[in-house]
Amino acid sequence: MKALIIGGGIAGPVAAMALRQAGIDAVVHEAHAGGADGVGVFLTLGSNGIDALRVIGADAPAVAAGFPTKAIDMVSTTGKALGQVRTSRPDGDIASRTLKRADLYGAVRDEALRRGIRIEHGKRLVDAQDTGDGVRAVFADGSEEYGDLLIGCDGLHSTVRTLIDPEAPAPAYSGLIGLGGYTRGVPVDTEPGSYQMVFGRRAFFGHVLAPDGEVWWFANVPRRDEPARGEVEGIGPEEWRHRLTELFAEDAGPAAELIRASQEITPAGPMHAMLGVPAWRRGRMVVIGDAAHAPSPTSGQGASLSIEDAVELAKALRDLPTIEGAFAAYEALRRPRVERIVKQAARANNNKAAGPAGRILRDLLMPLLLPRLANGEQMRQTYGHHIDWAASPTAAEGGGPART
Ligand SMILES: Cc1cc2nc3c(=O)[nH]c(=O)nc-3n(C[C@H](O)[C@H](O)[C@H](O)COP(=O)(O)OP(=O)(O)OC[C@H]3O[C@@H](n4cnc5c(N)ncnc54)[C@H](O)[C@@H]3O)c2cc1C
Repeated sequence: MKALIIGGGIAGPVAAMALRQAGIDAVVHEAHAGGADGVGVFLTLGSNGIDALRVIGADAPAVAAGFPTKAIDMVSTTGKALGQVRTSRPDGDIASRTLKRADLYGAVRDEALRRGIRIEHGKRLVDAQDTGDGVRAVFADGSEEYGDLLIGCDGLHSTVRTLIDPEAPAPAYSGLIGLGGYTRGVPVDTEPGSYQMVFGRRAFFGHVLAPDGEVWWFANVPRRDEPARGEVEGIGPEEWRHRLTELFAEDAGPAAELIRASQEITPAGPMHAMLGVPAWRRGRMVVIGDAAHAPSPTSGQGASLSIEDAVELAKALRDLPTIEGAFAAYEALRRPRVERIVKQAARANNNKAAGPAGRILRDLLMPLLLPRLANGEQMRQTYGHHIDWAASPTAAEGGGPART
């Protein structure tokens, strides 16, 4: 069996490695000519994402590229502690890691290449057809490729999603603009590896102290209408520095000082989410990762869920007798989990963009609710998730009898 993978971000190379472990050949087709997308910003790889990489023996390079991230301290505009969110597996066995997005891309890509997986760059998928006994992929350079199945790992603005369902919804703007940066030479009083996040008067700010003393920070700036494509990036780092220092001037915490002294300011752009995509699969085509269900960056889970998807899909294809059955099993298994996390992140975004009355209510209620929500069953389910590679998906999960 040969799989055509579209997209060489995070889900693509991980899917190729997981399929290889399941005995299925895969070739990755990436639109960009080379290099990692999204250079500059950073992310948190959850303990669940690391655990899923460990299932295919591919966790070490990603772990080595980051530093441990155990908790997030939430703080009000005035500096009042609102509660702590623990961001690691409850048994403490695996800690989440913070790493540059580009380094995570590099880690999974290089590990896939090391295993002999073909990654073809400059291959932008423009069309695909299910031919009955296979699938034909057509690329912008005029080339074609044939396989038994096609896996769309092509991210938020997925082409495969619309080939599966031309009526598929577009990503929804979350009402926030994301920016990030790195600062040296400004002391902060937070524990290395623990985030402090402040619900500021006019915007949301988070920072974390890296082991080498650099402070990594991000800002979420509310804006009601969606900025036009390129608008946020077009504003320029110096103008952003000016705007952000003003926005955070009255808030508790080191935001204004860190931004003023920042060596780098990167506008990550408007933040989007993708929820409720009705069709994840049609015939021999399926979508995984952000192409199927992108949580807004607030969740800290997009990359981890993409990795989990890739491993679960490979496992279903290993165990079930038909491709359609395996896709159905994968969807039945994944949809409830990922949609819960996407919805949670959307609710958190509302708190970040609260108006004056909402802010008062939020700061009153959060110290009461946060400890229960942050350390309760939902967080355990998110960060403690484990994929049992040896177990087979059952018929009840949607695919008919397991192959013996
Ligand atoms: C600012 C920001 C902060 C974030 N923070 C976090 C965080 O803290 N934790 C977390 O887990 N996640 C975070 N995320 C989300 C995370 O980056 C994504 O969820 C993750 O990258 C999804 O992986 P993916 O492989 O599905 O898609 P992507 O990583 O987007 O990869 C898709 C790939 O497909 C390629 N492609 C697109 N179209 C085509 C085509 N037609 N043909 C061929 N190739 C194509 C693209 O070039 C790209 O390489 C953040 C995202 C942003 C923007």
